[in-house]
Formats: sequence, C-alpha cells, structure tokens
Amino acid sequence: MIQFIDVKKKYTDGTLALKGINLDIKQGELVTLIGPSGCGKTTTMKMINRLAEPTSGQILVDGQDISRINPVELRRNIGYVIQQIGLFPHMTIGENVAIVPKLKKMSKESYDRRIDELMDMVGLDPIQYRDRYPAELSGGQQQRIGVIRAMAAEPSIILMDEPFSALDPISREQLQDELIRLQEEVKKTIVFVSHDMDEALKIADRIILMKDGEIVQADTPERILRRPNNDFVRTFIGEGRLHESSEALTVDEVMLTNPVTIFLSRGLAHGAKLMKKHRVNSLLVTDKNRRFMGVVTKEMLEEHYHNEDLSLLEIMEPDVPFVYTGTPVTDAVEQMKDHHIHRIPVVERNGQLAGLVTNSSLIDALLKQM
Ligand code: ADP
Ligand code: MG
Repeated sequence: MIQFIDVKKKYTDGTLALKGINLDIKQGELVTLIGPSGCGKTTTMKMINRLAEPTSGQILVDGQDISRINPVELRRNIGYVIQQIGLFPHMTIGENVAIVPKLKKMSKESYDRRIDELMDMVGLDPIQYRDRYPAELSGGQQQRIGVIRAMAAEPSIILMDEPFSALDPISREQLQDELIRLQEEVKKTIVFVSHDMDEALKIADRIILMKDGEIVQADTPERILRRPNNDFVRTFIGEGRLHESSEALTVDEVMLTNPVTIFLSRGLAHGAKLMKKHRVNSLLVTDKNRRFMGVVTKEMLEEHYHNEDLSLLEIMEPDVPFVYTGTPVTDAVEQMKDHHIHRIPVVERNGQLAGLVTNSSLIDALLKQM
C-alpha cells in the first residue's frame, strides 16, 4: 500500500533527517512511528503526502510513484491529523468536517450521513454539536472532530502526527480507545506518529521504532516486547536499563527526586508563594495522583496574576518536553538542547512525576562519577 524504498532526506540546512528508510505498510494496517525527538518521525510521515520531498529514493502508494502525483490531488485522498488540531475557528463543526468532501464533490446527502455516523461513533451527538464553533468545544472534543474530519472524505490513508499528545492523560486514553473502535469499522491504512511507547503498544498493529534517521526495529508490539533487537529498544520499552558496565547513565540516577510541585486546581497566589519560598522560577503541575500535567513559570503567573478566579490548570503549559524514567542521560541532554531548556521533567510510564533533571543536577552527578 505504502512503500518507502531507500528514502533519504537531507534538509537544505544540511540536517540529515533520514539515512535510508525502507518500509512496507500494508492496506488496513495501523502503523506507529515512534522514537526520540528529532529521530525523523514527522519527516517520514510528511513525505507520504508530499509536505516533504525525499532527497533520494522512492515512495510508492498503491504501486504508484507519488512524485508523479499532483500534491493537491494526493492530499485530498489522504487524511491528516496533527496535534495543534487545525480546525477553522470561524466555521462550524459541520462546515469544518465537510471541507474535503465538498472539494471532492461528494454528494451532500452521502457525506452528511457519514459525518453523523462518525460523530456518533466518538460520542458527539451530531444534532447538538454540528452547528457549534470549535471554541465552544473542549480540547478533547476538538481533537475528536479533527479525527472525524480526516475520515469524512473516505480517504484510504490517514496520517496522524502525535494527535493526542496535547491532551490530558484521561482524554488521551479515551481517544485512543475510540480510535481503536473506529479503526475496527473503517479499516483505513493509518500511519500514527507517537513518542509514547504505551500508546504505541496499545493501538498499533506494527511499531516502527526509529533512532537518528534510521529504523531500529519494525515489528508487532508483542514481538518488540519479547524480542527487542538491542539495548536501545529495550530502554525504549522501559525494560530495565542499559548494562551497568556501559557508560550510559540514566536520568533516574541524576534527577532531583523532590522538585517543587503543585496541584493543578490551586490558585496563582499559592503558586507565587511556593516559588518564592523555594526560590525557583517554575513549578511542575501534577494532578492528585501525582501525574505530571504541565509547567507554570513565573512569567505565566505574572501575566495572569490580576485574575483571581484562575487556577493553575488554566494558565499552565501542558505540552512541555519530558523524558521517561530509564532514558539515557545523553538523550535527556539532547532534548534539553533541542528545546533550549535548562530542566526537563522525568515521568514514569504510568504518567506519574518521578523527578526533574536540571543543569545543576547533571553537573552534580557527573562530578560524583569522577
Ligand atoms: P521527529 O518528528 O521524530 O521529532 P523530525 O522529522 O521533525 O523528527 O526531525 C528530524 C530532524 O530533522 C531533526 O534533527 C530536525 O531538527 C530536522 N528538521 C526537521 N524539519 C526541518 C526543516 N524544515 N529544516 C531543517 N531541519 C529540519
Ligand atoms: Mg515530530
């Protein structure tokens, strides 16, 4: 269905994003591309709808070289869902979802009926929601509409780039469940990018684990768990850590285990007090189960301080980089560099906050090793 034949990608600034990818995705398969930040997942995905072009190699869809297909035409036949939702704010839900079916000149009765069915399948009553505007829906509801919009024109391929990662853990789980249910019915070929191994294990027929622009292992979730190809895969699935003898130190050994945290329901004055008391410029926000929810900085507090009715949940940044326990320190440092940050939270596989790696905690740990 989708074939990558020795696909390489070098961006104009010289970044070698893909070093030669070979991949064969079957009709009706849900494949998850997973790997650390910057490994080339998004680049791989964007090549399928020609938002990025290979530097060399070939991509075939149904045996046809897509470099010969008009990109606009190609994209109409490929659904696309991204993290930042991308619904048009001035259009109703119904209008948003009907964009591509209209472009494809499908008959109104047929797509209206389909859209109602899809909305029902994800628990959004069409009568109640069709004429609302995106801003009237919660983040999770908007993302459901994003998924439906990608499916409405009956494309055979759907691309999803970390579509649920901006959502809170509960909505994320719900949308994963719904995607599994939808997929049973629609049986599309879905390429789903994730950085969350639990998500990949849950939804994928096959997991493509990538690192530094290469595929490290492409297998069913069961095979990845039972027969990881190497230490990188083992670490990524969270099975123990690299051999003690190797130089790889994990974040668990260098993180601060008692960073300053605050519940998401607390107010801004309370946040300010904690920052002052502990002399920090940011707080890690958790829910009652100590699950990591986001970060609040001094600047965010200052900006919203005049509004006494706000809670931290409403002002925090939910979509911040983090690493899982067991991650090699080198990967954490790379992420910090990539995102220009001086600290990065460490999170358990179950979403609970484990600690915080900071520049000074890193230096302390390195000094101890010498
Ligand atoms: P992922 O989705 O796995 O985080 P990406 O595919 O976005 O990774 O990026 C792979 C590599 O290519 C990274 O080193 C990234 O910085 C680089 N990259 C991505 N997009 C561009 C671009 N438009 N120009 C230059 N480099 C890019
Ligand atoms: Mg990406």
